[in-house]
Amino acid sequence: MVSKNKKPHFGHESMHTHSQSIEAAVIEQSKATAENILANKGHDVVAVRPTDSIHKVTEVMKEHGIGSVLVKDQNGHMAGILTERDIVRGFADEPDNTFDETAADLMTTDVVTATPETPVLELLHRMSEGRFRHIPVIDGEHIAGMISIGDVVKFRLQELEYEALKLKQMIVG
Ligand code: AMP
Repeated sequence: MVSKNKKPHFGHESMHTHSQSIEAAVIEQSKATAENILANKGHDVVAVRPTDSIHKVTEVMKEHGIGSVLVKDQNGHMAGILTERDIVRGFADEPDNTFDETAADLMTTDVVTATPETPVLELLHRMSEGRFRHIPVIDGEHIAGMISIGDVVKFRLQELEYEALKLKQMIVG
C-alpha cells in the first residue's frame, strides 16, 4: 500500500504529470519489475536463426502460440526481433516471395531491451513510445526472457485482484 506522502520509487523520474490517466496512476503504484513478471511466466525465449525462412518462423510462432521470436546468431547473441507485424508487412509488400525470405530480411535489428530490474511502468513507457508490444529482458550477457504487453496486463490484473482482496479482508475483518 502506498501512503499519501510517500511516492513510490522506481529508480527513475516519472515522465507523467498530474493530469495522467487514472490507469497510469494506478499502474504507477506498482513497484513490480520485469523480473516479477518473468518469475510468473517463465524465462524461456523462443528463438530462430537469421537464415531461417519466414515459412519456418510462422510454424514456430504457431507451435508456441506466440506473436514474436528473437533472432539469434550461431553464437547465441541477439541479432534482432521478428514479430507477426513484420510478417504481415512482408506479405503486403511482396505477396509471392515472403515465405521464402529469411528472418534476417524482415527482423528489426535495433532492439529496445529491458533488464530484470526495469519497473513495469517503464516497460509500458518503452512499448508505447516505440509502438511495439514485446521487450526482451537482458541480464548481463544472458537473455533472461521476453515480456509482451499481454504479460504486463495479466500481471497487473493479478496484482489489482490481490490488492482488492486485501482491502476486502481489512473491511470484513
Ligand atoms: P510488435 O507490436 O511487438 O508486434 O512489433 C511492432 C514492430 O516493432 C515490428 O516491426 C517489430 O519488429 C518491432 N519490435 C517489436 N519489439 C521490439 C523491440 N523490443 N525493440 C525494437 N523493435 C521492436
